[in-house]
Amino acid sequence: MTEPQLDILYTEDQIQARIKDLSLQIRRDYGDEPMVLIGVLKGSLMFLADLSRHLGHQVRIDFMQLSSYEGGTSSTGVVQIRKDLDQTIEGERVLIVEDIVDTGLTLAHLRELLMTRHPSMLRAVSLLRKPEAAKVEATCEYVGFEIPNQFVVGYGLDYRERFRNLPYIGILLNPD
Ligand code: 5GP
Repeated sequence: MTEPQLDILYTEDQIQARIKDLSLQIRRDYGDEPMVLIGVLKGSLMFLADLSRHLGHQVRIDFMQLSSYEGGTSSTGVVQIRKDLDQTIEGERVLIVEDIVDTGLTLAHLRELLMTRHPSMLRAVSLLRKPEAAKVEATCEYVGFEIPNQFVVGYGLDYRERFRNLPYIGILLNPD
């Protein structure tokens, strides 16, 4: 088995500093009211854990799992719900927490779906976004870093379920 080659894109320190900035911006907009974070599994797990720790006490956490990928490096364009929320979000101030917006299909679909459940506020944060890969317009109010159209792993993001536990984000140079 050939060893994976990774080019570091963002270090742990850079990621953590950016998350702190994002949390301040989010709290300014959401106020000190209760809010619900909806983590999109599995990629957002690290980001959600770190971001939520900066957002204070009035936070509830729930998860959804959607899928437009079959474990490879390109989108199939089909978005399926694998796991739905455990609790209602009616009347709640909701923030979708995404790892990465690539084609925008997942986020656009999720926003549409969650709007039908009548939250009082619905916004999205994504740690990464690939502007050149956009296929549909997906509004994302808060973006950590805009990145080139390359396949990245680490800090929650996987390649065939590997690399999620890396504390940094890297470009995978030799996917097999
Ligand atoms: P979209 O629906 O915007 O095309 O894709 C969203 C999902 O695709 C992300 O939540 C993520 O799971 C996966 N994805 C897109 N680009 C990448 C990437 O560069 N690396 C990894 N590991 N996953 C990606």
